[in-house]
Amino acid sequence: MPHDYDDSNIFARILRGEIPNDTVLETEHTLAFRDIQPKAPSHVLVIPKGKYVTFDDFAENASPEEITDFLRACAQIAKAEGLSTAEGGHGFRAITNAGSDGVQEVPHFHLHILGGRVMGPMVL
Ligand code: IMP
Repeated sequence: MPHDYDDSNIFARILRGEIPNDTVLETEHTLAFRDIQPKAPSHVLVIPKGKYVTFDDFAENASPEEITDFLRACAQIAKAEGLSTAEGGHGFRAITNAGSDGVQEVPHFHLHILGGRVMGPMVL
């Protein structure tokens, strides 16, 4: 069953330019901006421009171009934030919350990139 996309969600409004955001990177298919309530010194949200509700919606329904663009944008952000281990950084955590059990607040797929401190164990 396809996911119902709510056009009034806050990230849809950001993509339409109705709400300001602190953009880190914009590509053809992807937008990345700083989380308004950062949980780490670096806390970037990466979203596809397409209307995907959850990670699995994106993984199943996005085009190979959108998926590649998204993942490459994530790598570019990790590098630009000084987090990439390949560039001498100390690493990062990338997480996505999906649906009600995942406690997803905004129903537009997004990946959190968190770094700049030791993130600790995955205690929920
Ligand atoms: P979720 O729980 O994975 O859906 O996370 C939603 C995230 O969006 C939270 O970390 C919020 O702080 C963040 N957020 C909500 N509104 C805005 C905004 O307008 N700009 C940037 N981040 C936002």
